[in-house]
Amino acid sequence: MSTAAERRELLKDLYGEASKCVRCPLHQTRTNVVFGAGNADAAVMFVGEAPGANEDRLALPFVGAAGKLLDKLLAEIGMQRGDVFVVNVLKCRPPDNRDPHPIEIESCQGYLHRQIELVEPTMICTLGNFATKLLRGDITGISRLHGREEVRIIGSRAVRLYPLFHPAAALYTGSTLEALRADFHRIPQLVALGAPPQPEPIPVIPEIDVEPEPATVASDEPLAVEPAPQLGLF
Ligand code: URA
Repeated sequence: MSTAAERRELLKDLYGEASKCVRCPLHQTRTNVVFGAGNADAAVMFVGEAPGANEDRLALPFVGAAGKLLDKLLAEIGMQRGDVFVVNVLKCRPPDNRDPHPIEIESCQGYLHRQIELVEPTMICTLGNFATKLLRGDITGISRLHGREEVRIIGSRAVRLYPLFHPAAALYTGSTLEALRADFHRIPQLVALGAPPQPEPIPVIPEIDVEPEPATVASDEPLAVEPAPQLGLF
């Protein structure tokens, strides 16, 4: 178990690693890696899809029109960016804002999982289909799932996963905006529930370096086999 300060340092290291990433072809077309931003100790993490042109230019998530809507909805529930941590499934912009390709999602998902592990949010709001499908490991779409919170194990921790429509989808469709707003307004009460019950930690079995004695059999006598010592679980 590490302290908040230790996790923050590890997050900075991860940022250093991600900013040099060449795991997928998107590194050839990006201007900046958009690692994520916000409070590294936040209870709530938002996971979007991928940076757009503005995000790519400024190296920050959700700074365009969808970001303005995100800020507005946060303000309506008495929150601001500094209260949450905002990341994307992809850290680099897909050319022409096309959908993420499976190889890009696969290459990038280690960063997202590590971010979740280091920020330790109690609640993750997935914005849109890509984040929802990735973190639920299921193809069910956002139209069916939005506003339905569930407890999921992600990495070694249980979190409240709360799928929401993507703000970009709500920019042009009134009914989507109303649904997003209604779901958003439930965030404070879900945060107030705190962390869901956590799974039992998996006991760590210490590695023991056992150098086998070289067997020296001098005769045809059967070898006397010592019973193996029992390895205790600590
Ligand atoms: N859309 C996203 O999913 N992420 C951003 O950072 C901006 C727009």
